Amino acid sequence: MPHHKLTLRLRLTFWYMLGLSLTFGLFGSYLYFKFQSGLIQQIDTTLQVTNLEIGGRILPKNQQLKFKETNLQELQDFIEAGLVIRIINQQGQVLDHLGKDEKTILPIPQKVGFITISADNQNWRIYNRMISNHQVWLQVAQSLNRVNEASNHLLNLIILSCPLIIIFVGFGGWFLADRALAPIDQIIVTAESIKADDFTKRINYQGNFDEVGRLALTIDKMLDRLQSAFEYERRFTGNVSHELRTPLTVMKGKIDVILNRDRSLVEYQNTLQDLEKEVHRLIRLTNDLLFLTRLEQEEIEQKCTFYPVNISNLLDVLLEQLIELQPTAKNIKITSVIKPDLVVLGNGDYLTNLFLNLLDNGIKYTPDQGQISVKTTLQDQQIIIKIINTGEGIAQDHLPHLFERFYRVESARSRLTGGTGLGLAIAQEIAHLHQGLITVSSELGKNTTFEVILPNANQD
Ligand code: ADP
Repeated sequence: MPHHKLTLRLRLTFWYMLGLSLTFGLFGSYLYFKFQSGLIQQIDTTLQVTNLEIGGRILPKNQQLKFKETNLQELQDFIEAGLVIRIINQQGQVLDHLGKDEKTILPIPQKVGFITISADNQNWRIYNRMISNHQVWLQVAQSLNRVNEASNHLLNLIILSCPLIIIFVGFGGWFLADRALAPIDQIIVTAESIKADDFTKRINYQGNFDEVGRLALTIDKMLDRLQSAFEYERRFTGNVSHELRTPLTVMKGKIDVILNRDRSLVEYQNTLQDLEKEVHRLIRLTNDLLFLTRLEQEEIEQKCTFYPVNISNLLDVLLEQLIELQPTAKNIKITSVIKPDLVVLGNGDYLTNLFLNLLDNGIKYTPDQGQISVKTTLQDQQIIIKIINTGEGIAQDHLPHLFERFYRVESARSRLTGGTGLGLAIAQEIAHLHQGLITVSSELGKNTTFEVILPNANQD
């Protein structure tokens, strides 16, 4: 929606201009008042210096006080400077005065120091001083007209130039915001073109690696994850459908055959036994699927309650059962080297499921007269459990996919063994749930090794 971008651009420019106006307003006011007070300070200095100068040039004449006449030319300079100088006695009578605006009615001095007054439509700055040896006031005054003119000139300059500068800089801000936001358009266009079932498009941003560049890269990475999750889901649904269809097709075929004519009781019984096997397969498959979903959910929600599980005992019991139950026909040799009292913080049922899956696979994929060995080691607070079985091994290109759901090295062979293709996926999910890891390695024609790494819970 382009108007969103416009709004952001407008908002940025607006805030920029507002900030600038406030700064200029504050700075302008400061400049104006500083300038004005500076000028007044200058006047004050002049008034004070003049007052001191003149004070020394007052002479008694005919019982009256007069400015020192010999220095009249010098006094002329004070007049030129626009100063009004008056000598006033204690009764308020003006004894003498000097200056262009000498007629201006200025107040009679009351106390020593500076005052600002308004007279004849203009402001005056006055400095009064008592000349104690003559017992008279010496008053020096200057109009503030020039100060006001200069400050007003500055004020006009500020008032006129500021809006112009703000508007000019505002355009600059607008241009910059526009440039900064332009790549977002590209992101929006790409994002809008992404359909719910197609995550193949990428932004592929070529600009700088700034905030926008990082945003584009983050979105691209998110799309990567979405795409793989989506493809994974699609594959998974396809696989589930396929896995469900196969036994159902077999069952349908068997039912069709048995129903196409009258059969003997034995035939019915045989078919029902076959059907039961397929139903078992379906039940195992759905149970495994449900279990996987539950594990995933628990990993996401982290809600599984863990307690210390003695892995050594657990493995011992499983191996004992395995030795007892394994089909004697295969004659597989099972050996183990298990460190005692290895403890993992986890869920005993889940961990049993994990190792049962691996040992079960070991039995399934080890040929007659083969060998299975289980070894445990403790290394850097990690418990490592290795399950090695002899046999034809697994080719390297299969290894990275082995833990994917329904992945089988050789599907026909595996289906014959009764596996659902979910055993290793479940094992991996359980390992992850326990903050652990499961890896596989294989020497073709020799053996296959599954390695489970779990955090050790025994701290001593
Ligand atoms: P299945 O139920 O088919 O056994 P799994 O997820 O347990 O499914 O295993 C996936 C595939 O990995 C199997 O089909 C098999 O080809 C291979 N595999 C698993 N364990 C072993 C093993 N110990 N030796 C050789 N191949 C194995």
